[in-house]
Amino acid sequence: MSTSPMRRSYESIPRYTPDLSPCRVDLSDNTNAWGTPPAALDAIALSRSAARYPTPYGEDLKAALATYTGMPTEMIATGCGSDDILDCAMRAFAEPRERFVYPVPTFVMGPVFAQLNGLTPVATPLAELPGAGRIVYLCSPNNPTGALTSRSQVESLLRACTPEQVVIIDEAYVEYVGASVIDLIHRHDRLVVTRTLSKAFGLAGLRVGYALAQPALIHELEKARGPYKVSSIAEAAAVAALTDGLEWVKAHVRIALRMRQLLVRELRQRELEPLPSAANFLFVPMPNAVALARRMRELGVAVRGFESPSGFRINVAPWEMLEDALATLDQARQECA
Ligand code: PMP
Repeated sequence: MSTSPMRRSYESIPRYTPDLSPCRVDLSDNTNAWGTPPAALDAIALSRSAARYPTPYGEDLKAALATYTGMPTEMIATGCGSDDILDCAMRAFAEPRERFVYPVPTFVMGPVFAQLNGLTPVATPLAELPGAGRIVYLCSPNNPTGALTSRSQVESLLRACTPEQVVIIDEAYVEYVGASVIDLIHRHDRLVVTRTLSKAFGLAGLRVGYALAQPALIHELEKARGPYKVSSIAEAAAVAALTDGLEWVKAHVRIALRMRQLLVRELRQRELEPLPSAANFLFVPMPNAVALARRMRELGVAVRGFESPSGFRINVAPWEMLEDALATLDQARQECA
């Protein structure tokens, strides 16, 4: 018997360690560079409920999400970020050692949460997902590429999946698209759509996410999640963002889409070709992107470098920030050439 008190299957799992060195402009994490809806900030300032527990499963938040999504409250589960929802889904819908399958590249935390819950993550091409694993994960728009999976592709995936497969569609960036697949939930009892208030809603620091699925799946997700995961302050801010703050959110999505267009134009002028993006960031393929991102960070601008495929991901942001980032990119490219 091992004498170590540690869990052996965790040995190969790293702690999440993003670069936190100070920078002037941070365009590395796909959050809302315009900030938080003022209505949500007011709700935080006015919150007087910290002495008591929140409702066990975020009932006020579910009511606001029901109005926002058009789905009934019994088809909504809330969580401490959509990370929490993904984590819970691993426990709710698979036994240890079953497979979690996903096309690459995609959001890095999916396979990590799978492993943390004893599942086996297996990178699998889209066409081979049906029948390949217990939980199928597809991120659309995808992080880090920005690619949108078409509705018809999602529909054929759902049709092809076997009855014991649960399909998770991660719509973290859906507000930048305007089109969603949540209506398919009514027809597919194995579909879970996850979403977050960390991106367009500007609440990443408060950790609020949610899932939409048929009531039987929501029930299992909530069992796996446990009570009190969304704090009362986060819940109050999220409700405000979804109601009084909604116009602010929509207006800033429109601005973000305009800035994305301008950023594409600027990058093309530099003979870079960002991938077509449906989200609030661009993926720019180029060689030595990790070294370039490192140098940009030293120069005060954070973007996220990726090794495979080689490229960097950059948030859309107010124009002054993008101008600064582009000038820094020019300098770093010259130096890294
Ligand atoms: N899904 C995707 C695709 C993401 O990009 C992120 C954040 N980077 C998340 C989920 C997790 O977001 P959060 O936990 O803040 O809701």
